[in-house]
Amino acid sequence: MAFELPKLGYDYAALEPHIDARTMEIHHTKHHQAYVTNLNNALAGGVWENKSLEEILANVSKLPVAVRNNGGGHFNHSFFWQVIGPKAGGSPSGNLLDALNRSFGSFDKFKELFTNAAMTRFGSGWAWLIKSGSELKIFSTPNQDNSLMDLAELKGIPLLGVDVWEHAYYLKYQNRRNEYLAAFWNVVNWNEVAKRLV
Ligand code: MN
Repeated sequence: MAFELPKLGYDYAALEPHIDARTMEIHHTKHHQAYVTNLNNALAGGVWENKSLEEILANVSKLPVAVRNNGGGHFNHSFFWQVIGPKAGGSPSGNLLDALNRSFGSFDKFKELFTNAAMTRFGSGWAWLIKSGSELKIFSTPNQDNSLMDLAELKGIPLLGVDVWEHAYYLKYQNRRNEYLAAFWNVVNWNEVAKRLV
């Protein structure tokens, strides 16, 4: 069972004007597709070929670097498409808001710390909100690494992530990662984030 590119739950233009349609289309059909294709090629004929992506990531230090890069790429993008969406943004509520307040002081402080993690990731990578044990934590990873990998600096369940590779924003924002990150908050689907907290 080879991995497949998941369909998006919305149109490429659905996140306009925050994330433009052309970026979404290239990001999904070219970048994400390449991670899927290269992951399948890296696993073909081996003992890990029929394992779940989560199991592969939990053992990724024993596998070729192509599995780390492309398995991470496939997971991270599949995740990203779900935690963003149209008619989104605003503020979380309920248990998620309580947990953010408890861990970071306030929702605004959380946004500031998360944005800072994304801004200070040098080069390509991701910023994350994760559930690590009973705590929420913010950190960033290089390349396509994530907190499900056995070699991650911080391990835990990803709740929210933002792609800060230039391919995620360069067409619309060029070098202005700060503007992309400001726009990102308008497309965060807090209901999807909250589902992952339980
Ligand atoms: Mn990407």
